[in-house]
Amino acid sequence: MKKIILFTLALALAVVLLPALIVFYRGGVYKPPTSDDDTVSVYIKSEDKVEEMKIGEYLKGVVSAEMPADFEPEALKAQAVAARSYLYAHIDEYAKSGAPEEHKGAQTCTDPAHCKAWMSEKARRDAWDADKRDSNWEKISRAVEDTGGVIMKYGNDYVKAFFHSTSSGKTERSVDVWGGDVPYLQSVDSPGDLQSPKYAGEASFTIEEFESRAQANLSGVNWENGIIGEIKRSEAGGITKIIVGGVEIKGTQFRTIYELKSTNAEIEVTDNAVNIKTKGYGHGVGMSQYGANYFAQQGMDYKQILNTYYTGVEVSEKA
Ligand SMILES: [Zn+2]
Repeated sequence: MKKIILFTLALALAVVLLPALIVFYRGGVYKPPTSDDDTVSVYIKSEDKVEEMKIGEYLKGVVSAEMPADFEPEALKAQAVAARSYLYAHIDEYAKSGAPEEHKGAQTCTDPAHCKAWMSEKARRDAWDADKRDSNWEKISRAVEDTGGVIMKYGNDYVKAFFHSTSSGKTERSVDVWGGDVPYLQSVDSPGDLQSPKYAGEASFTIEEFESRAQANLSGVNWENGIIGEIKRSEAGGITKIIVGGVEIKGTQFRTIYELKSTNAEIEVTDNAVNIKTKGYGHGVGMSQYGANYFAQQGMDYKQILNTYYTGVEVSEKA
């Protein structure tokens, strides 16, 4: 009898205490960062290694890799806060769900297709003309330091601050591009993009080339009813759905297959060619970098720029 009681007690302890301990342990391990002096682990893809560095150092590497140094200081600051918010959102997410496999356990990575582009200070300086190295690096550093610890939140969540080079003049809603409706990633006017050097794009294919790309990427294509069928567009004008060779695909897939600068495409089919003209460069969601630079030239500060591109977010005060 005693044995049974002891066994039951031990079992109860194991069932109740163990999960409580695990929760306590995990909760105890995760502390959200509060300043740019806190440490972040970065998986540097080109070197296949994880490096620990200060958040400020990481952010300087992101801003300098993602935005031209000759952009306006307020645009660079907006970029720094966008990158910091995106980082915080990832750190928070991975603390709960575990870091993705691509990261080798780190909190962020340097692959622009996965997280954000990043360059070390040395690599960045070497890539600039010698007479610009000091002034460019100082300008980038100031954008990060002048916004030290500033982040964007929507309710209790850190803002996943997506950004892109140039929109079509209107940014895209995330739901139209990726399918998930995010309240702060709506379509907004971005008038400066019309002056961006990356605004207009072109791609031309012979009919044969166009068809063979479709055949290599899609199953079930046939050309009986023409090359292009119905096209559905977002409010901003990007292609959301398009019928190619009788198969309906997403605008993002169409962009990938034909290596287009954006999904905002006008397609002209002639007797022997398919000519595509695009507006904008990138996915079009969140802040447009060229649009941000234009707004900065018009006198907006970084908070106004961020509040323009990220609907309803709160930009924190400098720590
Ligand atoms: Zn990553």
